[in-house]
Amino acid sequence: MGSLDLNFTDSSLSQSDVFKPLEPEDFRKQAHQMVDFIADYYAKIESYPVLTQVQPNYLLSRLPSTAPYLPEPLQTIFHDISAHVIPGITHWLSPNFFAFFPATVSTAAFLGEMLCTCFNAVGFNWLASPAATELEMVVMDWLAHMLKLPTSFMFSSGTAGGGGGGVIQNTTSEAIFVTLVAARDRKLEALGTNDVKNLVVYSSDQTHSTFTKASRLAGICPSNVRSIPTSRDSDFALSPELLRKVVEADVESGLVPLYLCLTVGTTSTTAVDPLEPLAHVANDYNMWVHVDAAYGGSACTCPEFRHYLNGVERVESLSLSPHKWLLSYLDCCCLWVKRSDLLVNALSTNPEYLRNQPSESDSVVDYKDWQLGTGRRFKSLRLWLVLRSYGVANIQSHIRSDVRMARMFEGFVKSDLRFEVVVPRKFALVCFRLKSFSRAEPSYVDSLNRKLLEWVNSTGHAYVSHTVVGGVYMLRFAVGATLTEERHVVAAWQLIKDGADAVLKVKGV
Ligand SMILES: *Cc1c(COP(=O)(O)O)cnc(C)c1O
Repeated sequence: MGSLDLNFTDSSLSQSDVFKPLEPEDFRKQAHQMVDFIADYYAKIESYPVLTQVQPNYLLSRLPSTAPYLPEPLQTIFHDISAHVIPGITHWLSPNFFAFFPATVSTAAFLGEMLCTCFNAVGFNWLASPAATELEMVVMDWLAHMLKLPTSFMFSSGTAGGGGGGVIQNTTSEAIFVTLVAARDRKLEALGTNDVKNLVVYSSDQTHSTFTKASRLAGICPSNVRSIPTSRDSDFALSPELLRKVVEADVESGLVPLYLCLTVGTTSTTAVDPLEPLAHVANDYNMWVHVDAAYGGSACTCPEFRHYLNGVERVESLSLSPHKWLLSYLDCCCLWVKRSDLLVNALSTNPEYLRNQPSESDSVVDYKDWQLGTGRRFKSLRLWLVLRSYGVANIQSHIRSDVRMARMFEGFVKSDLRFEVVVPRKFALVCFRLKSFSRAEPSYVDSLNRKLLEWVNSTGHAYVSHTVVGGVYMLRFAVGATLTEERHVVAAWQLIKDGADAVLKVKGV
């Protein structure tokens, strides 16, 4: 790699090589090599430390500071991926990854992703690729059926233009943002004002932090963003009685309730807000209710978990991220609404260069009006491939197998008197900690748990994360990485016990 000589001209390249960035036979050859590289990576993923051990700037210091002027062979690039990139990866697909929530994947989703990338269809409106729009409508209805959502959330409910239906957003953050903006504009129109200063939004203190961000972006005054406290007694679910009190107080002081964000499976502990009674309160005050089921929603495709969605007929919108638990690659967040016309009112644009007959005739869905951006990828292919290749039966058994492994881990924790399960397990996440013991200060017990987490993660054999809820520091063990088998959970528990031995011994307990 010599220093960059900017005086090179095209004559430095061989004259016989006309540059062809997408030549089918080159593509075939190189893509096969890449597939082999990826399959090898998956096959030996367990040999890497799960949590990367590199230090900040490690890659900046290793790679050249300017791009090559002349082409480099793929083999050289592969070499650098192995030597420099992989050491800086935290291996989310490792079977020993138990942190945060899993990022589940599958062969079918990968194939769908290949097709999505293959067409590179930029489906901002129907005409830009009718198949992209209509396949998304089909797949969103399929998923809605799997979740037993009311038909009011489906295209097949037949309400012409502006009725119910689903759309694939990139992230939950965008799903919340677009619905909040739709709710805001509807409310302002009803009030006959442009002034947002009296609008109030509600959620629990366990709601994902992105809700505060979305509220800020939607212009809600920071002092009108209510984060209602929850407690360990109610497993950190939002209380309908408390919600009503807070809303009543706001109404009395002349404020206008706008939006309630509920969660099925909170990020810290997978708490579930009771939709039915909470939506009742919200309905009394004409609020938009959104359900964030980013993680927990996937489980509701199994009948034994569906009750967590009871009351969903009373809400305006629901989102779920298949990239968390439905074997899809990042990123993919499914959003269903009952009144798509409200999204369109808030988000539509109509520049001359996008005008076309089907859109003008109002006979088609133009997804650009349901989202923040204009361009959008053909992501429904991933879900379509997953659902067709595996069938609902395998999706359910995949969820159940993760839950079974989590239950097994929960049993291990309960069988060791040094530990406790802090919050009852609902899905495939176990929140646990080293227990307090006689005369130990809470802060001392927290520090032991912190040490334990560091000990476990520094081995590279497993990656576990933490949270603090209700003032209690706890470890989060989330089962569900696609490659995880029982033996990995057993090994991780052994590792955690070894860590407890080490931490408690050093501390002289
Ligand atoms: C993961 C998660 C989010 C964040 O989702 P993004 O798609 O990254 O914006 C939001 N809510 C819940 C409940 C989550 O678990």
